[in-house]
Amino acid sequence: MDPYNSGNPLGLGPRHRKPKRKYFAKLFILMALILLPLGGYIVYQYLTSTQQQADVKSVQSLQEVPTPNLDKARVEKWNGITKKVAYLTFEDGPTALTSDILKSLKEQEVKATFFLIGSNINEQPDVVRSMAKAGHYIGPHSETHDYDTLYKKKQYVPEMLRVQKQINQLTNHSPLLTRPPYGSTPGITKSIAKEIEQAKLRVWDWSIDSMDWYYKDSAKEVANTVISRAEGPVEIILLHEQPQTLQALPAIVAGLKKKGYQFSIYDEDFHVPYNFAKFSNL
Ligand SMILES: [Zn+2]
Repeated sequence: MDPYNSGNPLGLGPRHRKPKRKYFAKLFILMALILLPLGGYIVYQYLTSTQQQADVKSVQSLQEVPTPNLDKARVEKWNGITKKVAYLTFEDGPTALTSDILKSLKEQEVKATFFLIGSNINEQPDVVRSMAKAGHYIGPHSETHDYDTLYKKKQYVPEMLRVQKQINQLTNHSPLLTRPPYGSTPGITKSIAKEIEQAKLRVWDWSIDSMDWYYKDSAKEVANTVISRAEGPVEIILLHEQPQTLQALPAIVAGLKKKGYQFSIYDEDFHVPYNFAKFSNL
């Protein structure tokens, strides 16, 4: 006797129960069919995003400094021109090499930007005067060049204003554009940025690190670094007043010209923010 049929006069029990089991089995297979590909897709997405993050990290460590992208709108507005422009920016002068750097720039008919240190200006005021006469842009680069003093003790604006005054006494112009020692990140906090804005000063970092502080014995490597990294419509090139940089200068200028760059100096009337922290008020 069919045990399922006992006590079930309508005979519905077994017929009901068997299709129910099949129904659950079908549902299970259906769910598996939906969930397995979904799970696979989620794992795939996770793996590719981790790979992308790894790629971004390796690019950043290669460049050593974060380089904000100059989007198209910015470039179109940049000093009113759309051509490729390179800004050569020399830090930490004036030094014993400044006269030779000025001579080299003159020979190549190129204008540059110099970010000067207060005590160095006192030592060579005449060099600063000839820098201005030659048409280069001169901006403050602090007195101490000391990270803790400038950023932790918030002396950025007071120091830059004093150097601005020194430059004004020699050139009759109070420059607005400053270059933060070690770059704006992470030193320039929101509150320092506000002080800078209130003092009507500006800040420019760089888009290309020439690595002249690293390639101390190789002018060739310095030049290669700058030329190979110059890809954007606008490049701000970090240079220091060092022998290898002076030696690399003709190759840098020639290489950038070959890539279609013109050389320009900062124009206070057409300021475009360019700092690693992306403060729009600097
Ligand atoms: Zn410096």
